[in-house]
Amino acid sequence: MSEKHVYFFGAGKADGKAEMKRLLGGKGANLAEMTNLGIPVPPGFTITTDVCRNYYNNNKTYPEDLDGQIRENIAKVEEIMGMKFGDREDPLLFSVRSGAAMSMPGMMETILNVGLNDETVEGMAKKAGNRRFAYDSYRRLIQMFSDVAMGVDIEFFEDALAEKKKEKGVELDTELDADDLKELIATYKEIYKREIGEEFPQDPMKQLLTARDAVFGSRDAERAIIYRRINGISDDQGSTAVNVQTMVFGNMGDDSGTGVAFTRNPATGENKFFADYLFNAQGEDVVAGIRTPIHVEELGKQMPDVYNQLREIEQSLEDHYKDMQDIEFTVQQGKLWMLQTRRGKRTAMADVRIAVEMVKEGVIDKETAVSRVPAEKIEQLLFPMIDSKADVKIIGKGLPAGPGAAVGKAVFTAERAEEMAKEGEKVILVRNFTSPEDVGGMHASQGILTATGGMTSHAAIVGRDMGKCCVVGCGDIAVDAVGKKFTAGDVVVKEGDLISLDGHVGNVMLGAAPMVEPSMSGDFGTLIEWVDEIRTLGVKTNTDTPAGARRARAFGAEGIGLCRTEHMFFEEDRITSMREMIVADDEEGRRKALEKLLPMQRKDFIEIFEAMESLPVIIRTLDPPLHEFLPHTEEDMAELAKEIGVDLAKLKSKIDSLHEANPMLGHRGCRLGVSYPEITEMQARAIMEAAVDVAKRGIKVIPEVMIPLVGQARELELQRAIVDRVAKEVMEEAGLEVEYMVGTMIELPRAALTADEIAEHAQFFSFGTNDLTQTTFGMSRDDAEGKFLQEYVESGILEGNPFMSIDEKGVGVLIEIAVEKGRKTNPELEVGICGEHGGDPKSVDFCYRAGLDYVSCSPFRVPVARLAAAHAKLRSEGKME
Ligand code: ADP
Ligand code: MG
Ligand code: MG
Repeated sequence: MSEKHVYFFGAGKADGKAEMKRLLGGKGANLAEMTNLGIPVPPGFTITTDVCRNYYNNNKTYPEDLDGQIRENIAKVEEIMGMKFGDREDPLLFSVRSGAAMSMPGMMETILNVGLNDETVEGMAKKAGNRRFAYDSYRRLIQMFSDVAMGVDIEFFEDALAEKKKEKGVELDTELDADDLKELIATYKEIYKREIGEEFPQDPMKQLLTARDAVFGSRDAERAIIYRRINGISDDQGSTAVNVQTMVFGNMGDDSGTGVAFTRNPATGENKFFADYLFNAQGEDVVAGIRTPIHVEELGKQMPDVYNQLREIEQSLEDHYKDMQDIEFTVQQGKLWMLQTRRGKRTAMADVRIAVEMVKEGVIDKETAVSRVPAEKIEQLLFPMIDSKADVKIIGKGLPAGPGAAVGKAVFTAERAEEMAKEGEKVILVRNFTSPEDVGGMHASQGILTATGGMTSHAAIVGRDMGKCCVVGCGDIAVDAVGKKFTAGDVVVKEGDLISLDGHVGNVMLGAAPMVEPSMSGDFGTLIEWVDEIRTLGVKTNTDTPAGARRARAFGAEGIGLCRTEHMFFEEDRITSMREMIVADDEEGRRKALEKLLPMQRKDFIEIFEAMESLPVIIRTLDPPLHEFLPHTEEDMAELAKEIGVDLAKLKSKIDSLHEANPMLGHRGCRLGVSYPEITEMQARAIMEAAVDVAKRGIKVIPEVMIPLVGQARELELQRAIVDRVAKEVMEEAGLEVEYMVGTMIELPRAALTADEIAEHAQFFSFGTNDLTQTTFGMSRDDAEGKFLQEYVESGILEGNPFMSIDEKGVGVLIEIAVEKGRKTNPELEVGICGEHGGDPKSVDFCYRAGLDYVSCSPFRVPVARLAAAHAKLRSEGKME
């Protein structure tokens, strides 16, 4: 038997089901599922994503038996509908719709009304007794077919439409009559011929097959590639199915219409049905955002039966899928048809609220709730919000479609947004409405503001999904993109002027509005409690200030995994002493300068220990090459020479002598401590004196000293001897015992490979994965990211940026070796990671699998890492994908 390429759905029975997303795409799988649930879905069929994969693997060709299977399925639909595709009197029409396994809302790749031509349109007009409707459908087909299948610039058609409306002195498409539309069709066909060099195809089957090719071809369209890149979707997951479905018509008059709905509010998560609806409209009119839709309550008033049925279906879908759904529907002369359901994209705030409320409603359990909230996204919840008490000038109010707040310079095109963002500017993209071409610019912006469109418009869907602050349908503003300005009442905002958006209430404000810090209370607090019940991996933070420590603690950090000491030396009052130490001729000179630094370091540590009361604090001894601390300009050098009383020429030659060909691999890390033991000694003393000081005041303190860049066991052995000796001295002087630990960073391949030897001298390991990645790949991060890394990723040499997510095949293996070897000689060894990877969900998952005790990351990433740690556990138990 030949392979099945086409899956049928219709009349209550479907070949597919919801679980078959990879094969049928999300849309196709859910159309099948809805059909099986007895929900009214127009019949049709899905051509599988495997056909798409084969299409690309085989030089854009199809299996031989595909067309035959398509014809068979068309015949099945014809049978159910009692109509024929291409029939002159009563033509059956189809929509051709894309749909990948990963849903990509807002791509707008659909072609409606396939099967209409100069003859069938007349049959449809007669049969429906409605010429206007038939012509409206035909002109839409020509436009969509030209745009989606043939790549003709959609503006030609929009301009022609606008021209016609102007000529007739009307504002809305719906005000054009049948004859107007008939003329418009003639114009559209001329545009088609002019642009393509052929007549608009009259053969319905040719239309259908061309539309199919276009949908498969759209996988590699630039906008689809950008969308996938931004959202981290692989090409394979982006392989699309083609859904061919019987048309139903929302443009048959005022008892018809089209809508998009969410079973709960996608911006806030509130459990309230939410829908945008347009009377007498078709297809993507709602998403296109050109007309601002009406609220669904209005539909309830005008067509209560339809409304009630919609509510029933909406609820049954949510019950069935046990998650908030995003649904699309059309009403044809008072009859409701469901055209799509999928998991609704939502803001992080809505994610959390919906997950928590569904547990309280008994729909899902806590583990499912935790698994549903993407770790990466919750950082949004920690960003500052507009201070509601602040005195700001509100110049407009729109719909609060996206989360958070944004402050930036107004820009009026996506290109300009990208340009300015590249220069490091923060911008807000202001448009009448957005379209798929704007996605890159939306990504580059802090926030998005549109004059038209509803909560389900393109700007809202895409903005929410990107986590961008987004205010849509702000009728108070008039956008003049060509003139690079918008007006709101008597206020004129030009390109580059600062504005602020509040995505929670929909306010547009002039200037930069003041912000307040958010808190981790309410639903977020509840969810994070569940997270902590699940996870076993610890989460610490990287910080070297008391303020950072306090913030991280509020975010749930269980200690400091990395406190760098070098930043402390850069402060105004210290840098001179530091420099004095560096340029000193001998140990005596160095000790003199170090003595000045000692009390300052001690004070820093005291404050940090206080902030981290009863939690462990890992302090790393001096790491960067000394050269970094020295002045670089002639002027600064002269000043330093004067300040510390040395001869300028001598100072210069000293600075020269410290210059290194490759500082990253030079005289740094523990190598400094080996050359100048007095530096380690001073730092150990500052740490232990601080510890003793706070301990005396009854504050529980757990200091841990970490030696960087160890490559040989002996290096650590020597450094540790210094720390232990000083600790003993300090505790004897104070007459007080404080428990402390000494450990090392593992950030060189040699350290990982000889971890068994190193662990004999270490109480803990902390993987410095930034350096470990650099030294394993033999590539410096700064040089790679600035120059060739992107190219490496794009050409597939690298799977992703290894500085963002741990390279499991190389760096990861070194980590596994080090953990295993280290624990072999020292079973008590505590193991964690303090590279930036500690806040990256994928890397956190790896760390859990590698058996680490904790991850450490920047304060704002702490909640992300906690959630990622819970996810890692759930995944390991097969409770999450
Ligand atoms: P997207 O993937 O962008 O959501 P869809 O394939 O869902 O695109 O198509 C967009 C819109 O086109 C739908 O929301 C619906 O309004 C309209 N549409 C698609 N198929 C049909 C159909 N068979 N009958 C009527 N309208 C349709
Ligand atoms: Mg689509
Ligand atoms: Mg859709």
